Amino acid sequence: MRVSQLLIPTLREVPAEAEVVSHQLLVRAGFIRKTAAGVYTYLPLALRVLKKIEKIVREEMARQGGQEILMPIIQPAELWQESSRWDVYGPELFRLKDRHGRDFCLGPTHEEIITALVRGEVSSYKQLPLLLFQIQNKYRDERRPRFGLMRGREFIMKDLYSFDMDEEGLHTSYQKMYEAYSRVYDRCGLKYRVVEADSGAIGGSDTHEFMVLAASGEATVVYCSSSNCDYAANVERANALYDQESSREEPESKREVYTPSQTTIKDVAVFLGEGREKTIKTLIYKTEDGLVAALVRGDREVNEVKLYNTLGCLQLELADAATIQDVTGAQVGYAGPVGLDMRIVADPEVNNMVNAIAGANKTGYHLVNVNPGRDFKVDTLTDIRMVQAGEPCPRCGSALDEAQGIEVGQIFKLGDKYSRALGAVYLDDKGQEQYIIMGCYGIGVTRTMAASVEQNHDQQGIIWPASIAPFQVVVIPVSTKDEAQVKMAEEIYNKLLQAGVEALIDDRPERAGVKFKDADLVGYPLRITVGSKGVKSGQAEVTERQTGETVMVPQQDIIYKVCDMLEKDV
Ligand code: ATP
Ligand code: MG
Repeated sequence: MRVSQLLIPTLREVPAEAEVVSHQLLVRAGFIRKTAAGVYTYLPLALRVLKKIEKIVREEMARQGGQEILMPIIQPAELWQESSRWDVYGPELFRLKDRHGRDFCLGPTHEEIITALVRGEVSSYKQLPLLLFQIQNKYRDERRPRFGLMRGREFIMKDLYSFDMDEEGLHTSYQKMYEAYSRVYDRCGLKYRVVEADSGAIGGSDTHEFMVLAASGEATVVYCSSSNCDYAANVERANALYDQESSREEPESKREVYTPSQTTIKDVAVFLGEGREKTIKTLIYKTEDGLVAALVRGDREVNEVKLYNTLGCLQLELADAATIQDVTGAQVGYAGPVGLDMRIVADPEVNNMVNAIAGANKTGYHLVNVNPGRDFKVDTLTDIRMVQAGEPCPRCGSALDEAQGIEVGQIFKLGDKYSRALGAVYLDDKGQEQYIIMGCYGIGVTRTMAASVEQNHDQQGIIWPASIAPFQVVVIPVSTKDEAQVKMAEEIYNKLLQAGVEALIDDRPERAGVKFKDADLVGYPLRITVGSKGVKSGQAEVTERQTGETVMVPQQDIIYKVCDMLEKDV
């Protein structure tokens, strides 16, 4: 293809609303354009990358026996009512009515549709196991669509669903997908980590997330620093290890101290000359079942996912200032557990504290020598805190390390959750009716493209791994006015095409500097530059985008050199 004929609208300016690098670069390099918040048009280069990721995904799903189907985007409300998710899913579900006033939604995921399909088509154990997948647009009215393709409201997902006779079968399907996902991200050339993830209030089920490591990732993962241990988890899920021993300090009498304008844990600790670990952090949350106080040690953070799972509620949000004032009788910053009339959930570390500092529920005051059990009662004592780097690994005790990641895929054991709700059964070999055991497995195709950019870029632009690059090589004649250069460039370009290399020629009558800048911005893995000196000596420059290294290569060797660099058979 010729750059002069392709729609690659590159920009020199960084788009104002783009906060993360992948969003900035994908817009600047002419891959995507915004149509509405969280809704994008994929231009030719982006579509080529997406098709390549999809091809890898298709091959790896097929390798494990996955069969591709295509389900409707428009889904009837009745199925969502059967699974009870019509109400649970909330405002994230795009809902619509047809001309007869019947309710529908745009599919955010397809458990309902596929379970209904399988309920109708599978009746015997002889038809199982079954792995069905599709690659399609998904719709989620995200609260904060942002970061370009990273969190869209319309995005492309591969979703596979497994159907097995029993837990053992599910385990096998799950392992197959684990392997398939690992191969997909390996082949996409991405550095990633597989982590244990939160399986929500249902509990018990296995689930793993595939995280592309990048500083801008929204997720924090912790992993064991020991080379003998492969523990890794989303921090939302990572369990804390607890010391059984409490301090040997003798409890003293509780007393009130004047702490004017000391409304943060840090300020109070400094003011009273103590460490933050001597204070109790009290956060008040609103749920549909009333207010709840969550207590953690002052140097810890509340893990809202753990809290949410503990409470089993549908809504959980921090109470507003007016509510806090109302229930504690004090301004924000002085809440504490003593005398607080609401359900109290505390982290086990809090229970081990002796002579702690806590808010006095009185503006300008804190209590010292607060002792759990004696001074307040805890209703629920359970792990509700965020694990931090440096803490012991729950598996082997070595120190945990921390990294940021982008969730590009997740695999999940569903069990009989949907087959039970929708009545998807089969007859086993004894003629007994059993629920089909399911798993679901998603890959964010568009998010994977963005994650690749987050992980692989520099000041000049994107650096595509060769396997998913929109084109592998761009051939640039330095001057399109010099016939000899154009001729040599065209010859090289045609030879590359004949060798099956995805090559582009930048035949635009632009200055060389403009073409080089664009090539770096778009991120083709290799650039071949034909200049006046090279023409004289019969050589061209081959530059690797990743390293910036340039070598002069005789024209007749270029195909070999390029195929070698791309690790491609000639
Ligand atoms: P998140 O926690 O980031 O909202 P999720 O856990 O809700 O994602 P899943 O239901 O597991 O997402 O969807 C499978 C995959 O689809 C995710 O791993 C991610 O790669 C992708 N994905 C989910 N939501 C979005 C979105 N809003 N925009 C782009 N990709 C998404
Ligand atoms: Mg997920």
